[in-house]
Amino acid sequence: MFAWRCYKDTLPTNKCLAIRIPHIHPICAICSREDETIMHALFHSSWASKVWDASKLPIANELSLVNNMVNLLELLRFKLTVDKIRLLWVIAWRIWYGGNAFIFRGEDVYYQGIVPYCGSYIREVDGSCSGETLTSQAIPNVWHPPLSHTIKLNYDGAYSECEGLGGAGVVVRNVRGLVLVAASWFYPYAMDPYSTEALAILLGMELAVRQGWKSIVIESDAETVINEILSNSPSLSSYGNVVEKIKSLTPFVDCHLCV
Ligand SMILES: [Zn+2]
Repeated sequence: MFAWRCYKDTLPTNKCLAIRIPHIHPICAICSREDETIMHALFHSSWASKVWDASKLPIANELSLVNNMVNLLELLRFKLTVDKIRLLWVIAWRIWYGGNAFIFRGEDVYYQGIVPYCGSYIREVDGSCSGETLTSQAIPNVWHPPLSHTIKLNYDGAYSECEGLGGAGVVVRNVRGLVLVAASWFYPYAMDPYSTEALAILLGMELAVRQGWKSIVIESDAETVINEILSNSPSLSSYGNVVEKIKSLTPFVDCHLCV
């Protein structure tokens, strides 16, 4: 989510907030010298620069050429390995966290420990994924690519019953596993987890129609919703209107649903 917000330029920096909230000043609260843009907060502020120097990641040239994360990553993806890109994101996230800890909690801004922390953080995550620390029955969860000329949409949704809030995300990949689109939706008046998942699938279908994708696979763990969509009978569920709308789009997209 952090990376996504960086890409969409919606990280709540002062510069970003000042556009929407009149009394907020765009200046950086740490150095008071420049506007706090994403690039300033994560890379160009004096303390962030020290962190990147300590990281030894060779990004200085690229940083001097671009002014947003999209362009920076576009340049770096051919230069850095996947592991280095991963380290870059974790460091950026930690810099953001450290800056906020200074601004909102008055904690000191230390740069010395950030890179070692990020390295151990990644090792811990990798250890968890490989089962080194998770000894309970881990469920094998392997992504399988779609057939050629087919796009695969993987969904997951979440629902808070007490707040009536729902959210869902989708990742769209091609046969090589390349991510074409990643998107998330927030539903402030969600009825239940099923309608949340159904709405997400509908939005994915509409996305496919707009993009001109002729053949898609929709993969979701919402078996109940998938069965409603696959049924030949009209849906009588509380989210039946959404199911019927999804069905109405199938003439435009060859859609294969699976759980
Ligand atoms: Zn600053």
